[in-house]
Amino acid sequence: MLADKCKYGKCTHTKEPGCAVLEAVKDGLIPERRLENYHKLKREIEYNLSKHEARFRNKRSNFWKNVGKQAKLIKKSRGEH
Ligand SMILES: [Zn+2]
Repeated sequence: MLADKCKYGKCTHTKEPGCAVLEAVKDGLIPERRLENYHKLKREIEYNLSKHEARFRNKRSNFWKNVGKQAKLIKKSRGEH
């Protein structure tokens, strides 16, 4: 795997100084095309993830809205303000 060569855990392999993948491309050890494909694939995965995340976030915000409502009702029923 391309990313395994890199010392950074969350490296994007685009502009990080000392990135092993960028070094390898510079030295001709990894063809630039392969790095491009890697970024393309990563973008696709991130796009799919962000779609899922947005859906999840919507659900979650509804969840917290409901929690707030429930908490208010409970406080009211207890006579707390
Ligand atoms: Zn890297």
